[in-house]
Amino acid sequence: MATGNRPHVLAVPLPAQGHVKPLMSLCRQIAKHGIKVTFVNAQSIHDKLLLSASEDDSDNNIVMATVPDGLTPEDDPDNPFTLFETLPKTMPQTLKDLIETINSSNPNEKVTCVLADLSFSWVFDVAEKTGAEPVGFSPPSAACLAMLFHTLKLFEQGDLDSNGSMKNGDVISLSDDIPSWTKDELSWHVPRPGDTKAQKLFFELVKGYKDATKAKWWLCNTCYELEPAAAQLLPNAFPIGPVNLLNSDNSTPTNFYSEDSSCLRWLDTKPVGSVVYVSFGSSAFFSQQQLDELALGLELSGRPFLWVVRPDLANGSPVVYPDGFLDRVGEVGKIVGWAPQDRVLSHPSIACFLSHCGWNSTMEGTSRGVPFLCWSYFTDQYHNERYICDVWENGLKIEFDEEGIRSRHEIKKKISMLFSDNKFKENTVKLKEKCCKSIGEGGSSYKNLEKFIDHLRR
Ligand code: UDP
Repeated sequence: MATGNRPHVLAVPLPAQGHVKPLMSLCRQIAKHGIKVTFVNAQSIHDKLLLSASEDDSDNNIVMATVPDGLTPEDDPDNPFTLFETLPKTMPQTLKDLIETINSSNPNEKVTCVLADLSFSWVFDVAEKTGAEPVGFSPPSAACLAMLFHTLKLFEQGDLDSNGSMKNGDVISLSDDIPSWTKDELSWHVPRPGDTKAQKLFFELVKGYKDATKAKWWLCNTCYELEPAAAQLLPNAFPIGPVNLLNSDNSTPTNFYSEDSSCLRWLDTKPVGSVVYVSFGSSAFFSQQQLDELALGLELSGRPFLWVVRPDLANGSPVVYPDGFLDRVGEVGKIVGWAPQDRVLSHPSIACFLSHCGWNSTMEGTSRGVPFLCWSYFTDQYHNERYICDVWENGLKIEFDEEGIRSRHEIKKKISMLFSDNKFKENTVKLKEKCCKSIGEGGSSYKNLEKFIDHLRR
């Protein structure tokens, strides 16, 4: 880089909550080193972030920029996954235009690096055309990233059809030290059998990784100590996580929903290690029957609970609770539309995390020393659940009954089992220590990030 020029990272997330948030955490850390960051969202995502931001959300080191959503009249603007399809068509041009405008308006702060979600690896072409270095960011586990590259190969060899269904065999295994994937646990498997549109869409996202090797750096939201076998399968991977431990400041908007922090005050009133925290991330939906069973299971457990009930949790219908449920649980239960999750998980009153096992939630709970009750829903969550239950042994799985429902009795049983066996808490605390050591000065994630920042400055 010429003397006097400041490095400038332009970050491009996949337009989903679980991708925007960890990339922003990483960008805050990069910006803290005096590097300029421009964070680019599709317009509708940008609007959601601003709508949910509290008034003091502002960060002078990070500029929020937008590109158009690229919707045509045929596209469904209410489907959260529509942008996965529209952006790859329009963004190569709109992003190039944006970078060229930035470069010409301030030649001393030209974009030197484009840091894009690896599932949008077509962005790397745009980076190269504008003279910036392409760098990848990977929000899921290293194991899932390795599996995606492996399945791309299987697809090219004809072992997977165009919907991602396996033609041969039932299991994909990458190493004896990584749990395998059954055909129903692949990342594009959707919970509604026969939903080939959704399955195809998720499989298309996998194909989005095909240009990933254009980037020499893949910054991954994991740490070597949690996934040594998987990290070794990925030559370009630089584990730099868990990114939720990188910084606690909340100065740039990252939420698609408005946070209700009243739950922190409610948690203050509960005994240490007593509360079941229940949250399913940003995309899981439930039938009314399943919502009823969950509510009644929490009530039956007799434990205090904090439950995140997103306004869209019942898949477009208003959320209805079982008769008299809210009156009966009273102060024992707290329900919010969206929680400050990492702060909740750091609160001493939290005993366990009933989670859909999204990778961010998995990292957040694990790095805060909270054991899990696993309720995987789709995509990489099946495999994250296997890490928790089979490898790290810091949680228990809530099983379906023969009708495909997680019953109130199963929920109550697993809550009791988790509370009565200290092994899960002990294992999570050991994992938390590993994560903190990795991200702390001199740790493996710390050194990888330091190496990357030095590289940006060169
Ligand atoms: N999250 C939050 N408040 C909530 C629920 C979730 O801040 O009430 C955050 C959570 O901390 C995590 C992200 O939303 O960083 C969800 O990502 P994850 O990978 O766990 O699940 P996804 O939404 O991608 O299914």
